[in-house]
Amino acid sequence: KHFTDYQLSEEIMRALNSLGFETPTEVQTEVIPVALKKKDLVVKSQTGSGKTAAYGIPLCELVDWNENKPQALILTPTRELALQVNEDITNIGRFKRIKATPLYGKHPFHMQKAELKQRTHIVVGTPGRVLDHIERGTLSLDRMAYLVIDEADEMLNMGFIEQVQSIIQALPRDRVTMLFSATFPEDVANLAHKYMDNPAQIEI
Ligand code: AMP
Repeated sequence: KHFTDYQLSEEIMRALNSLGFETPTEVQTEVIPVALKKKDLVVKSQTGSGKTAAYGIPLCELVDWNENKPQALILTPTRELALQVNEDITNIGRFKRIKATPLYGKHPFHMQKAELKQRTHIVVGTPGRVLDHIERGTLSLDRMAYLVIDEADEMLNMGFIEQVQSIIQALPRDRVTMLFSATFPEDVANLAHKYMDNPAQIEI
């Protein structure tokens, strides 16, 4: 397997090259071709497996650079993960000039609001602060075509179920949803069942 198998754009290939990614990891091999076809996905995988790039590569490939409103939302359980994912997305999308914006608590709201007024393709955030921006009208959702729920089990363990559901319900119905989790307790399985459209199931 090689990244050239996926017919990625020259800009994304150049980024993978500069990151030193030569061959896709197992989760990337499974996820990238399915995500590029815009199919919903439920993925059981651990951190360290390369899962961020597994969804980050197709997202960076699929978003339209010319669109002014955000097109993808990635939810993470913690601020640390939001910042890490934001950095990874920025690196993957570098040569396509993809702008990713992190939204998390304990960071001035008005600074994030100002950042959201600039063109942002991909938003990476924790549920509480993302919902805050939605409720205050500072995060536009009408062009959101992709939702990634990362570390879903951790997110629900931390008590974010209601926020996550409120966010999903505010998103356009016509979207692609990808859920990643290391474990699948009942509440995670229910979330996938309730909000996803016949998802492909991948287990690493
Ligand atoms: P993650 O599971 O997303 O936290 O990724 C774990 C680490 O693997 C990160 O440091 C990535 O930069 C790195 N990584 C992801 N995909 C690849 C790849 N295809 N080749 C080499 N390293 C990778």
